[in-house]
Amino acid sequence: MTKPSLNIQIFIGALGGVIAGIFLSRVGIDQPVASQVLYIFELIGNVFVSLLKMILVPLVFVSIAVGIANLRAHAQMGKVWKLTLLYYFSTTALAVFAGLVVVNIFKPGLGLEIDIFKNTIEASTIQQLTLPQFFANFLSQIFVNPVAAMANGQIIGTIVFAIFLGITLIVLGDKTKNTTIMLNESFEIIMLMVAWIMKILPIGVMALLGELVATQDPALFFSVGKYVAVVIGVTLFHGFVVLPCILFFLTGTNLLKFYLGIRQALITAFSTSSSSATLPVTYECITDNLKIDKDVAGFVLPLGATINMDGTAMYEALACLFVANLAGIDLNIIQQLTVFFMAIIASVGAPGIPSAGMVTLVMVLESVGLPSKAAIALLIPIDRPLDAIRTMVNVNGDSIGSKIIDHYTQESS
Ligand code: ASP
Repeated sequence: MTKPSLNIQIFIGALGGVIAGIFLSRVGIDQPVASQVLYIFELIGNVFVSLLKMILVPLVFVSIAVGIANLRAHAQMGKVWKLTLLYYFSTTALAVFAGLVVVNIFKPGLGLEIDIFKNTIEASTIQQLTLPQFFANFLSQIFVNPVAAMANGQIIGTIVFAIFLGITLIVLGDKTKNTTIMLNESFEIIMLMVAWIMKILPIGVMALLGELVATQDPALFFSVGKYVAVVIGVTLFHGFVVLPCILFFLTGTNLLKFYLGIRQALITAFSTSSSSATLPVTYECITDNLKIDKDVAGFVLPLGATINMDGTAMYEALACLFVANLAGIDLNIIQQLTVFFMAIIASVGAPGIPSAGMVTLVMVLESVGLPSKAAIALLIPIDRPLDAIRTMVNVNGDSIGSKIIDHYTQESS
């Protein structure tokens, strides 16, 4: 019997994970057998995410350096830069705007009894981050010792050094052609490792989804059902209606083919809640399945995984207005404009890791004087599934961006 394709295996893994998760939560996760199964899921999930993280830093470093060095060869570097930033900022702004419009229409949280969250309010341990602290923190991560950045998995520092390296390779040209060749070869090596890691994607997805489903408390969701519905609805609408329409109108891409090509990345994003951990899979899907230029993808995707987060930006705005409604505070237009800009900045600053948006949400809330500690305590318990959805939309946005930028740069080369 022939082995089913990787896509079918991933589908079976995802379905198996969800069914196992429902079963475990029905049985009760503190029952001996269920807790052992959950423990195994946790182990497998952790190993899988560790493998993705293991390859992440070398992949980001080499793909950006090689991408920039090679882009120069087809004289497209300037254009790729500008288009990438234009796409990232305009789509993020659009996402936040849509979030604000929808939350003003549906007003989730208005008149809701906040007492139900009293217990969780005390339990908050999330890091508090004000705007000045945020900027200081962000700036301190830009120019750092590259070895330390890589050793600590700091993506921004790694990207910045790789950009420097790529540019020096261009400037030095033939003098450093061996280094460029070596980096290109390193890149091939890393991509082979990524292909191997992809082989265990079905099991990783099963374990992560099993754990996710088993450990959620549905009662908590129903208590803030309207908010959850608004967040999920508008995030998915932006990710899977608005962005694909932009892609289609700008490039005429066959959307079915596009989504078949990136589905592994979307499932991984959903299961890991981390754009960064998903990056190796996204890169493989974009270059292998969709045949997008590897130099363009090598630049656009790693940058996107750290600065382009439509789902996160939108969520920051939605959550902020939800908290205002709960607190009975009516934010005026100037305050909402503040939220608009702060949500964009917060999403750019959030690293592509689980619940990073929760940390940067603090500064959005504080920018308009909302009680951040209580708000975070109230939002954390329901964050995991919402994070899964916004991460999927973040990765979707990066993928669409690389397709659009590839389209415009290849056309004119
Ligand atoms: N988990 C998200 C990501 O990795 C960031 C966030 O919104 O928390 O893209």
